Amino acid sequence: MNFSSRLLENAVNEFSKLPGVGQKTALRLVLHLLNQSSQEVENLSDALTRLKREIRYCKVCGNISDSEVCGVCSANKRDKSLVCIVEDTRDIMAIENTNQYNGVYHVLGGLISPMDGIGPSDLNIERLVERVKTGEIEEVILALSATMEGDTTIFYIFKKLKDLPVKISTIARGIAFGGEIEYADEITLARSIATRVPYGVES
Ligand SMILES: [Zn+2]
Repeated sequence: MNFSSRLLENAVNEFSKLPGVGQKTALRLVLHLLNQSSQEVENLSDALTRLKREIRYCKVCGNISDSEVCGVCSANKRDKSLVCIVEDTRDIMAIENTNQYNGVYHVLGGLISPMDGIGPSDLNIERLVERVKTGEIEEVILALSATMEGDTTIFYIFKKLKDLPVKISTIARGIAFGGEIEYADEITLARSIATRVPYGVES
């Protein structure tokens, strides 16, 4: 692309680093912003700067939070003996939308993926083992996507937890999730958690 301005080119380059945004889309977004008021553009840039600077991760479950302990972990009415293990905050949003789950969560922050150079130590797994070792947790539900990365991660976590006094289950794997549980509709998702199955009985 030949740009008439270096500033324009810089902005387009930054936008096109975002997932799913090619140069054409980036250009469209940048030209759109250029037509907005200065205040609008400042609001956007402030939101992003504050997001990155001020965001925190719950010290219990690892979910994105505004405080040291997130709303779910600090709620008295949640069942702390039941922990749903998910890849990221999108999965929690999807499960919370079902209004059917009363346990708490543990956010891994990704899946094991040797192809992408992501190993177990890059994920929030040690903290999960520590949580289980406290003895407060009776069951963990592995709610990870039905992909090779999801399966690898499930198997790794199973090996880490299998000798601890905790029940390990997975959400029903036969249900079509479209790969990512965030895309599952609420009824399907709620049902797959309700009908979860014990993991690793045969191995
Ligand atoms: Zn939390």
